[in-house]
Amino acid sequence: MQSSSEIKIYALNGFSLKQCLFVLLVLLSLSSYLVHAQSHTSCSKHTCQAPDCRCPAHSIPGNLKVDTVPQMVLIAFDDAVNWDNWDFYLRLLPPDGNRKNPNGCPISATFFVSNNFTDYCMVGKLHARGMEIGDHSVTHRLPRKWWTESNKTLMAEEVLNQRQNLVVKAGIPVEDIRGWRSPFLQPAGNDLFSVLYENNFTYDATLTYSFPKNLYSPVLWPFTLDFGYTLVCNIARCPQNFYKGLWEIPVVGVMDYREHKLCAYVDDCFNMPRDKNDAYQMLWKNFLRNYRSNRAPLYLNLHSPWLTTDYQLDALDEFIQKMVSMDDVYLVTMSQALAWQKDPTPKERLADFKPWQCHGFRPHAEDSKQCSFTFRHKNAPGHGPGTGIETTHSRRRDKLRNDLLRSRQTDRSENDSTGKRGVINNDDQSQTGSSHSQPKSTSEKDRQGDQRHVYHHHDHKTHRPWFLRGSAASLRPSRGIAILLVAFFIKPGLISFIGQ
Ligand SMILES: [Zn+2]
Repeated sequence: MQSSSEIKIYALNGFSLKQCLFVLLVLLSLSSYLVHAQSHTSCSKHTCQAPDCRCPAHSIPGNLKVDTVPQMVLIAFDDAVNWDNWDFYLRLLPPDGNRKNPNGCPISATFFVSNNFTDYCMVGKLHARGMEIGDHSVTHRLPRKWWTESNKTLMAEEVLNQRQNLVVKAGIPVEDIRGWRSPFLQPAGNDLFSVLYENNFTYDATLTYSFPKNLYSPVLWPFTLDFGYTLVCNIARCPQNFYKGLWEIPVVGVMDYREHKLCAYVDDCFNMPRDKNDAYQMLWKNFLRNYRSNRAPLYLNLHSPWLTTDYQLDALDEFIQKMVSMDDVYLVTMSQALAWQKDPTPKERLADFKPWQCHGFRPHAEDSKQCSFTFRHKNAPGHGPGTGIETTHSRRRDKLRNDLLRSRQTDRSENDSTGKRGVINNDDQSQTGSSHSQPKSTSEKDRQGDQRHVYHHHDHKTHRPWFLRGSAASLRPSRGIAILLVAFFIKPGLISFIGQ
């Protein structure tokens, strides 16, 4: 009986050398075609060009020299806006506009607002003071996995109904609501991104990026999803389809004060600062990382409960004061950052840079509006004059909050019991706990800290077949052909074997 290898040799012996070379050429052509086709579906300087397309990269937009780039600082607060946090915002972002960027316009920040517990009158005031208001869902519901397992219809309800709330209840023009962030930073893959894309959102700010690992590496600039999301997917489900012109402002972690672990949110570090100096140094060192490397925007994402600790509020206040004292640092909104990226302008010419002008600052437009300030937790720390009015709504909202707290604890227990450590547990504390409850006890924090981790590296990097992965540069047709030719010609034995 013939062995299988003898059968193969017999089959090859049936071909002439010419036939074999012909087959080889066909294979080379096919390979070239596949690789060339891939080059058109990969992000590269040939397929993706400014201003409306940008590949994920550390390089400075417009190839500007680093010392001409303004350092942008993007502060973003998530969740409800209400009396619990109003006075913090007044202190950090004073309504008289006396904290100014170097171009003379008031500093600004971004608020991703969810519906529950939100006082929309306050949201309208923030918008009139030049803050950007983003969409952060209606329900912010639990469990977290609901967002991962959601479908397009449900995501559309969350995204579009909350946008409508912001338009109707806060009086914000729909065209000013440009960004979305998912609760718990849990994306819902194409089911979410198709909704954003089809409804003219400019950007998403949900996807987490687990680098840099230290304070000495450059940081990623925002990019578009013209060629999908090609980075490591830290929290499934990341988008797989292509969304032309839809920007991603990544959630880039800040390093904790011990320089040990990244934290997606400033307020959710494994190593929480112990005093004002720790908190300030954490902010300052992360700032210097960006400032001294590629000057990518410094992303500072946080929830207002972090500010209920006095020394943390003081540290952020001092940090902002330091920022406004520097002549090349700008505290801007996410949309303003994207506007700069589309039109990279050296800091010397920013006085005339229109997207950063003061026209968004209209505090007097809201002067006559008296917000009801109907919600204030009875134990909320007093950081203001106390103009809020306690009403019967408070009791109803207290009940709602307690229900949500219980629900969250159940959610955590489920994760614990299944041994499932949330992909990123440094999620929104959101409506359910930290936003509206008292600061956690030490033991509870420790317990959460154990579960809290920074990033996992599940390899969801790509769902393409292995031979189509990699950067466009590594898959140029000429390179593919060259590799194959070299492989064949340095092994003449193989050719002679085929030609037998
Ligand atoms: Zn949230």
